[in-house]
Amino acid sequence: MNRSELDKPRCHCAVLGVYGTPAASQMAYYGLLAQQHRGQEASGIVTSEYDGGHRRYRFHVHKDFGLVDDVYADPGVLTNFLRGTIAIGHNRYSTAGASDNRANVQPFTVHYRDGNIAIAHNGNLTNFRQLRARLEAEGTIFQTTSDTEIILHLVARSRESGQLNQIRDALGQVNGAYSLVIMTDDKLIGARDNAGIRPLAIGKKGNTYMLASETVAFDIVDAQYVRDVEPGEMVIIDAESQKSGVVTSLRITDAPPNPHFCIFEYIYFSRPDSMVFGHSVDKVRRKLGKNLATAHPVRSGDPEEKPIVINVPDSSNTATMGYVQQAVKDGEKAKLEIGLIRSHYIGRTFIQPKQDVRQNKVKIKFNTVKGVLQDRVVVIVDDSIVRGTTSKQLVQLVRQAGPKEVHFRVSSPPITHPCYYGMDFPTPSELIANQCEGDVERIGKELGVDSLGYLSIEDLLASAPDEEGQNYCTACFSGRYPVAIDSQHSKEENEA
Ligand code: SF4
Repeated sequence: MNRSELDKPRCHCAVLGVYGTPAASQMAYYGLLAQQHRGQEASGIVTSEYDGGHRRYRFHVHKDFGLVDDVYADPGVLTNFLRGTIAIGHNRYSTAGASDNRANVQPFTVHYRDGNIAIAHNGNLTNFRQLRARLEAEGTIFQTTSDTEIILHLVARSRESGQLNQIRDALGQVNGAYSLVIMTDDKLIGARDNAGIRPLAIGKKGNTYMLASETVAFDIVDAQYVRDVEPGEMVIIDAESQKSGVVTSLRITDAPPNPHFCIFEYIYFSRPDSMVFGHSVDKVRRKLGKNLATAHPVRSGDPEEKPIVINVPDSSNTATMGYVQQAVKDGEKAKLEIGLIRSHYIGRTFIQPKQDVRQNKVKIKFNTVKGVLQDRVVVIVDDSIVRGTTSKQLVQLVRQAGPKEVHFRVSSPPITHPCYYGMDFPTPSELIANQCEGDVERIGKELGVDSLGYLSIEDLLASAPDEEGQNYCTACFSGRYPVAIDSQHSKEENEA
């Protein structure tokens, strides 16, 4: 069972780029493997190879449905087929309906008058419907249903001269969230939207450059994290960068950067061992747990009782550590325990997107340590509640072990709104917070717990790094969208 089968918001993608080594495809493979959690339905790598005999560049493409290990199971794919010194890669999670369309698996490649170009995208363009309608009216034929393809058409149709100007021209026309890796015949390019909603980092190993959604992609190949691609920045990595050690940096438009980083990256999406938006995810996630403990402690009616605090493996491990640390510091009696065990060796489950099946999946995935939970006051810490199906099932499992009380603490606020910037949430009416009209007590009753406490939006923001000019998107909790949304897009989501 993979991460996307649980009742959690789903991340659409991971991107990866490598420049300047004959082992580019192998490094891309490891980088994608480290970022498997960001997309588990399909994976692809494209390389650029200079063919000296014919004095031209060739792109080699390998992509398919499946986990990274399955897609590149034949080692010859990486060592013999994906030749070249530049590579870009992508892991994808897709929304229903588009998931069976092979053409939607990234990276996308085209050959046009100025050469080859390949692109991989993490995010979601908010004006893609208008752009697509305009391009179709002008005669463009689309191969996929993906918003990312629009960027390639805009590049190919640009009247600017040279690929870099054409890419800038295209990106100047799209709105929304994009962290992109782009490969031309001889360059690796990274670009991030002006709000920097999704992460994109630069890494280096010796003379080899990398781009990745998360820095765990650098760690796995012993590359060093250099810095993030800034909001509204386009970086160009080429032979000159290798000589000088300097990456060329351009602003995509004249607009000043308007950072609104996705705060959910810190809550759940990113791995705790990554640096995201320049900061350690582990550190922020612990702080979320700490602030949650202060805001919503658990005290037992029995002064002799020491509540036990359990994590929901693996996503709430770090926040739970922070919760217990702070609870003890605040003078509460609390003890960290391992009460839920997650099986890592579960085979495929039948694909039936009905709610009762989702509940069964939770039972297949988790079991309780009964001796730990029996006759105890138990506090479950989780990172988020979406539909509530997973949480409800977990509470039922814990109750079967015979605890005295079960309390639930959540290291994020209630989710009430959809994400238009690259994360997939259920429709608003499926969200438990909306079903219970935001009444936390009602949600708690629905889950079957003795008490429920969410982190407030204020405490959430107080947990995140607060550097000058640093701002966050909190739209799925607050409904405040920092980047304008195509009205048609928003209408369809609400009606879905
Ligand atoms: S709406 Fe939520 S998930 Fe989407 S970018 Fe904003 S904070 Fe992240």
